Amino acid sequence: MPELLYEGKAKKIWATADPGQVEMEFKDDATAFNGQKRGTILDKGVVNAKLSATLFAVLERAGIPTHLVRQVDDRRVLVSRLEMLALEVVVRNVVAGSLGQRTGLADGTVLEAPVVELYYKNDALGDPLFNDEHVAVMKLAVPERLAELKQRARAINQVLSAFFSELGLVLVDFKLEFGLRPGGAVVLGDEITPDTCRLWDATTRERLDKDRFRQDLGRVEEAYQEVLKRVAGHGTV
Ligand code: UDP
Repeated sequence: MPELLYEGKAKKIWATADPGQVEMEFKDDATAFNGQKRGTILDKGVVNAKLSATLFAVLERAGIPTHLVRQVDDRRVLVSRLEMLALEVVVRNVVAGSLGQRTGLADGTVLEAPVVELYYKNDALGDPLFNDEHVAVMKLAVPERLAELKQRARAINQVLSAFFSELGLVLVDFKLEFGLRPGGAVVLGDEITPDTCRLWDATTRERLDKDRFRQDLGRVEEAYQEVLKRVAGHGTV
């Protein structure tokens, strides 16, 4: 029986025979508003495992290093073990969620240039927004590494925005988490799924992501399946 190393809100992390690799198991559990809202999205784990493995493979092909090794079954993905940074890097192309609340800009406003934000990964503090100096004071990353992370996040945004655009989807915003390999190289970890991205239909602006759960918009399962259908139809899966 493999050892459970960690259980989060949407994933379990299992040890493998190789100490340098772990398995990520994607759950159907969904939470929002820092865990205050809880629920289940049927087969979300299956959709997210497939989507995340596919999107990480797309990034690898574009030359962006990630933790992906391979998908092992319908809910589990084998990845390199990383020392994760306590930072969430959010990239935004269109105003939604907390950016609208912070700036007063209307939801759906297209940003002239992508905006990169940093959040301190700390549940007890509610993942506060950090600037570069907060990152330095908390020793989360030295300035050169932080610059590298932001540059990497912008490059990922270019690859993913173009990829989703071909599928008739607007990549509104998304959250990334990076980690370090034993040698110190920065690698993209965690997941990229409709739990961590906002994806809107390019024509109808219909929300095809976790906002359907957060805002009780209905047709939550259908939205996740629709994203998978489009990505699978692309021929990369
Ligand atoms: N996000 C995430 N995990 C978090 C916070 C945000 O994956 O803990 C993602 C979210 O799905 C969205 C983007 O980051 O795609 C920006 O989220 P925002 O700051 O608007 O936060 P929200 O209002 O959604 O909590």
